[in-house]
Amino acid sequence: MRKNKILVVDDSRLYRITATDILANEYDIVEAQNGLQALEILKNEKIRAFTVAIILDLMMPVMDGYEFLEEFHKEEKYKNIPVIVATSEDRQENEKRCLQYGVWDFVRKPYDPDILRMRIVNAAKRAWVQSMEHDPLTGVYNKQKLYQSMRELIDRNRDKEFAYIQIDIERFRMINTFYGMAEGDRLLCFFAQVIREVMWDYEDCCYGRISGDIFGICMLRDEEKINFIEETVRKKLKKYKANYFINTTTGIYFIEDNRMEIPEICDKAAIAAKRCKNNYMIHKALYTREMSQVLIREQKIINEMDKALEKEEFVAYFQPKYDLNTMKPSGAEALVRWRKEDGKMVSPGEFIPIFESNGFIIELDYYMWERVCRFIRRELDEGHEVAPVSVNISRVNLYNPKFFESLVGLVEQYKIPPKYLHLELTESAFSDDAAMLQKTVDYLHKSGFTILMDDFGSGYSSLNLLKDINLDILKIDMKFLSKGSSTEKCEKIIAAVINMAEALNLPVIAEGVEEEAQMQLLKRLGCNYIQGYYFAKPMPEKDYLSLMKKENI
Ligand code: C2E
Ligand code: CA
Ligand code: CA
Repeated sequence: MRKNKILVVDDSRLYRITATDILANEYDIVEAQNGLQALEILKNEKIRAFTVAIILDLMMPVMDGYEFLEEFHKEEKYKNIPVIVATSEDRQENEKRCLQYGVWDFVRKPYDPDILRMRIVNAAKRAWVQSMEHDPLTGVYNKQKLYQSMRELIDRNRDKEFAYIQIDIERFRMINTFYGMAEGDRLLCFFAQVIREVMWDYEDCCYGRISGDIFGICMLRDEEKINFIEETVRKKLKKYKANYFINTTTGIYFIEDNRMEIPEICDKAAIAAKRCKNNYMIHKALYTREMSQVLIREQKIINEMDKALEKEEFVAYFQPKYDLNTMKPSGAEALVRWRKEDGKMVSPGEFIPIFESNGFIIELDYYMWERVCRFIRRELDEGHEVAPVSVNISRVNLYNPKFFESLVGLVEQYKIPPKYLHLELTESAFSDDAAMLQKTVDYLHKSGFTILMDDFGSGYSSLNLLKDINLDILKIDMKFLSKGSSTEKCEKIIAAVINMAEALNLPVIAEGVEEEAQMQLLKRLGCNYIQGYYFAKPMPEKDYLSLMKKENI
């Protein structure tokens, strides 16, 4: 087994030899003649990791003990290595200054062998305890120690109110991936240092690293101070030298009951922090009960989704699209509805975002495509004319390697001529990876599908996309257009989009049309199709069929 090491830093050869004689049985002795040499030696990780103590002389040439301590003290990774200063009776040494630099202990020269041994054993024990309580990378408390300190802090002050704050770095994983683990570590150490500096003169607080890039701070409930801390951390992190942008996410929980378990407290702050994710506008959130309720609702949906699919609780509704030339329906969009056992209908706005984040949307999309294929097949079998039906393709599916295969597989299985199936891809999906999506769209196109760009105008890259991607129909959503802008401006935008689409030979569908005036305007501007409550709401399959029959289609 490897022996633990003692670093003896002394310019006197005699004292180095005496220390070696006393300690060599139990330890490997590494010698340095001055502070500079000692710092060099400590840079070697293999030596550092096994160094259980440093015996430091103060008066030395080149770099004396004080200068050494000053440098040594700066490095977080040296924090767990005890320094024992060797003092001589005939010299006036400044113990106070040493203690300020975090020196652990002193030993008198000439050495008394037993005392020297005991001091080393004591220091090593303390260092071991310390290393168990501190995060080895950043030197702040680790999770266990933070939890324990929080418990003690709160229990000591039962009559006071506390807050717990969780701070993390946004997209830290991406920084790790793109810039490497070493860079990630460097940033984390900087982050810890920033927190340490900010918290320096607060009393009744504790902080530490919970995991990964998540740090936690527990302090007295003082909104002003908390805001100050959050802002200062953000400001200081911005100064970090790196060629990427650093943002933080902060979740705050005002501890309601001091008897609460610590993990529960931390969970609440984490729930609040989650609120800020993927939202460039918010970077700080205070926990509210409502957040937990949202989470519980989400969890309920997740718990029920597999069963619901199995029991065919998801149903396809059809919303007709009207041709503005003939004023008759010319097809429909299939929209999912969740019909619960008790007959209650849940709208997709409640569950689609959840399914998009947990991947279940891939199964649900497939289920909907199959429903629609089955519907078209039956119509064809019964000898009816069939108007095309469009299905939604979630952006998540565009990253699914089996997407193309499963869609084409369905169409083949049900022997559906692809012209009956229109595919709606939402515009925002294209901002992710335009080149990859372009390829996907090309494939789909070659297989005979008609591609609609859904929610055109809601994203930012719309115009660029038009030149690169092979589309067949543009779908503009009136909801996006009317949000916060004047009617006059909206009209101009719609007119411009329709003109441009015309120039590119792309038909336009306007969606979300609720009023006569909107319909008239769109008609005047040359829009081709309309989908909206003005004509019809999404409806069950049989209603859609009877509508089509009535209209003789
Ligand atoms: P979307 O694809 O943009 O669908 C249009 C939404 O606008 C539908 O909401 C439709 O009911 C609604 N709508 C249509 N006309 C009007 C109108 O005149 N006024 C108003 N206020 N709303 C109108 P819905 O059915 O609640 O669906 C919401 C979103 O959920 C859809 O937006 C789509 O992104 C997603 N979604 C629905 N079904 C599916 C599906 O089967 N698969 C996937 N991946 N997403 C789906
Ligand atoms: Ca759609
Ligand atoms: Ca849409």
